[in-house]
Amino acid sequence: MIRTRPAARLAPQCDAVIVGGGHNGLVCAAYLAAAGLKVTVLERRAVVGGAAVTEEFHPGFRNSVAAYTVSLLNPKIIRELELSRHGLSIVERRMSNFLPTADGRYLCTGGDRTLPEVAKFSHADAQRLAGYSGRLEQIADVLRDLVLRTPPNVVQGNWRTALPQLLRASRIGGRLRKLDMNLRRELLRLFSASAGDYLDGWFESDPIKAVYGFDGIVGNYASPYAQGSAYVLLHHVFGEVNGKKGIWGHAIGGMGAITQAMARSAQSRGVDIRLQTPVREVTVEHGRAVGVVTEGGEAIRASAVVSNLNPKLLYQQLLDPAVLSADFRERISQWRCGSGTFRMNVALAELPDFSCLPGKALADHHTAGIILAPTLNYMEQAYFDARTAGWSKQPIIEMLIPSTLDDSLAPPGRHVASLFCQHVAPQLPDGQSWDQHRERVADLMIDTVNAHAPNFKAAVLGRQIMSPLDLERTFGLIGGDIFHGALQLDQLFSARPMLGHADYRGPLSGLYMCGSGTHPGGGVTGAPGHNAAREILRDFRRRVRPGAHS
Ligand SMILES: Cc1cc2nc3c(=O)[nH]c(=O)nc-3n(C[C@H](O)[C@H](O)[C@H](O)COP(=O)(O)OP(=O)(O)OC[C@H]3O[C@@H](n4cnc5c(N)ncnc54)[C@H](O)[C@@H]3O)c2cc1C
Repeated sequence: MIRTRPAARLAPQCDAVIVGGGHNGLVCAAYLAAAGLKVTVLERRAVVGGAAVTEEFHPGFRNSVAAYTVSLLNPKIIRELELSRHGLSIVERRMSNFLPTADGRYLCTGGDRTLPEVAKFSHADAQRLAGYSGRLEQIADVLRDLVLRTPPNVVQGNWRTALPQLLRASRIGGRLRKLDMNLRRELLRLFSASAGDYLDGWFESDPIKAVYGFDGIVGNYASPYAQGSAYVLLHHVFGEVNGKKGIWGHAIGGMGAITQAMARSAQSRGVDIRLQTPVREVTVEHGRAVGVVTEGGEAIRASAVVSNLNPKLLYQQLLDPAVLSADFRERISQWRCGSGTFRMNVALAELPDFSCLPGKALADHHTAGIILAPTLNYMEQAYFDARTAGWSKQPIIEMLIPSTLDDSLAPPGRHVASLFCQHVAPQLPDGQSWDQHRERVADLMIDTVNAHAPNFKAAVLGRQIMSPLDLERTFGLIGGDIFHGALQLDQLFSARPMLGHADYRGPLSGLYMCGSGTHPGGGVTGAPGHNAAREILRDFRRRVRPGAHS
């Protein structure tokens, strides 16, 4: 039962208790501990990492079971948390993307091969590639610059509270003023337009638009022609791998290797991480968060309570509604969550033999992000079908076969594949449950790959299925939302998760947020955790002596 605890004058047992050991909770913990705070992380599952974990899903076969590819993880965080020293190694794919087309051809992208490959479909598009990449790169630089900043918080009150926010806004304004007019226009377009319209403005051939446009619908339950999807595309290009901007790579050992390295880094700084310790409620006294109570009934008092959870989960399930204003509760109820994501992990006896590029022996295209969705129109239709019927008979799939880059995941000669399938309805029509349909939809996904690589179905030795409902149950991702809330203009930057609370501080003093529901949003970036730690430390320096608790 959720309730407000009676007042008790007990001393805090730690400086900060972090609810959730997802990658952002771990990053936040490591930074707080580095500054001398006594930190406890409470994780519900038997493993840290949240959506960034590696697990055995079939005997002898391990994979990154949810998030599966790395790029957005911030280099400052990799450096400062010494993740390499703690075991993290990230490798590049040998090819970025491979896209079979409807007419039996294919497009390969990445490095020097992109230009001649695009020219197979359109010489005009090949000539425009450098302009497109250059422009996007400049805009991505602006985003990179904002990722580790606290957004200006829209505040009520006197000049004392408003001034720091004005300064913050003017610093960001200063950065934007350095952009020339063309780039400012482009920025506006990318924040508001659809990925489809944006790409149609650049290119004429379908395959390159599909490869780039896929980024606009990842985790974004919308048509690629929906306004705002261009931002989602942009959100997927601000990363880098080993200093190379805009590309995606693989963490050896899977995404769990990232979060295990983060956990080791945090523990080396003294953080106490407790697994299988779900938090039942946040304890509030006199309008201040003063600790948590676990499902097991243990009360842990802390000067700061930090939530790594989707804001809906925190405010609707862990807090007594009576401690929040009606307006705040209403706004949280309107927080839009729900990716159209269906995730599968597949153990394979052999590599897929693509009809358009035959061969079962390991080749560059087997290491790529393999996109099975030939055009933007195909993606739009998949969305329309999902809206009306729950899923499309022609779904969008990105397949990655990480064992082609990492032999720690599967037995010799065998492989594991991640199927990241887009555009299934987060909630099925007519009140149907995903539990009724997950096997059927999984068969459809396997058949869809098989249509491109006819040996695929017979090569499947085992499979793990995660419908949106499974993602919610396993990882606490409401509506299966991979970002903890849609990445749309009214849920970004100063509005993430809500105007007035974009500075990682919740509506109660002592309560903070460090998960993907805060700026800059979802993806394995570590940025929300990093930024939240900075704000928490600011408050500690003002009010509390860190380390003063027993
Ligand atoms: C299927 C899928 C594919 C994705 N692919 C990619 C990708 O390839 N690359 C990429 O960069 N990003 C990807 N993402 C997005 C990315 O993984 C997430 O945005 C990110 O991992 C979220 O991190 P987080 O730390 O903010 O939250 P989470 O990872 O959600 O962590 C929250 C933690 O809180 C715990 N928790 C929940 N409730 C409680 C409670 N009551 N008490 C204690 N603990 C609790 C959860 O168990 C979890 O460990 C993907 C996500 C999904 C789901």
